[in-house]
Amino acid sequence: MNLEQLSNRNIGQQTYKMVDLKPTPSTGVKKFTQVVERTFKGELFVGLYVTFREMINALFKGEMHTFKYPLEKMPISPRYRAIHDMLRLLESGHYRCIGCGLCEKICISNCIKMETRYDENQRKEVSEYTINFGRCIFCGYCAEVCPELAIVHGGRYENASEQRASFSLFEDMLTPIDALKQQKEFDGFGAISPNADENIKKTPLAY
Ligand code: SF4
Ligand code: SF4
Repeated sequence: MNLEQLSNRNIGQQTYKMVDLKPTPSTGVKKFTQVVERTFKGELFVGLYVTFREMINALFKGEMHTFKYPLEKMPISPRYRAIHDMLRLLESGHYRCIGCGLCEKICISNCIKMETRYDENQRKEVSEYTINFGRCIFCGYCAEVCPELAIVHGGRYENASEQRASFSLFEDMLTPIDALKQQKEFDGFGAISPNADENIKKTPLAY
């Protein structure tokens, strides 16, 4: 198609619907009549019908499409990487962390800081443990590397706070002792694989 053909192509009548523009009303009564005519069209009642239908479905048939947040919360994926939790041993209630330091070493943001000491029985215990959540990128490596399944990503994703330090201390992340029975094993990053038992049995002993 050359330029002349392009200019002369008759696209208006073939593909476009020409709008029938009425002359602009000149008097107040005519203007009011035009507004009323344009407002009360069939589409308005279709829209109202859809709205009322969905309202009745939600109120009386249980087909609610929204959550009453914060009273209700959507379930999050088990692999969602939220604020960390420190788990306890179910039997004794003692925290699981053995102070091995692997999480501190693997952290690519260098935001885990921990210190350990020996208790009166010469057993290692964690004396300081913090995560700087201003630096954490929630990569999940710490949870994945932990040999004791002690540090995991829990389900706390509402991490707005006046103080950045609010979540970062060991005690803040640790399962409260009175909530031990509600503590759940984490099935996201670092969880035991479903066939872990088979893999252990296959490990050769003679080496
Ligand atoms: S999630 Fe990643 S960045 Fe955050 S503390 Fe763990 S290893 Fe470090
Ligand atoms: S890797 Fe696990 S057990 Fe080791 S120091 Fe970190 S949280 Fe504790």
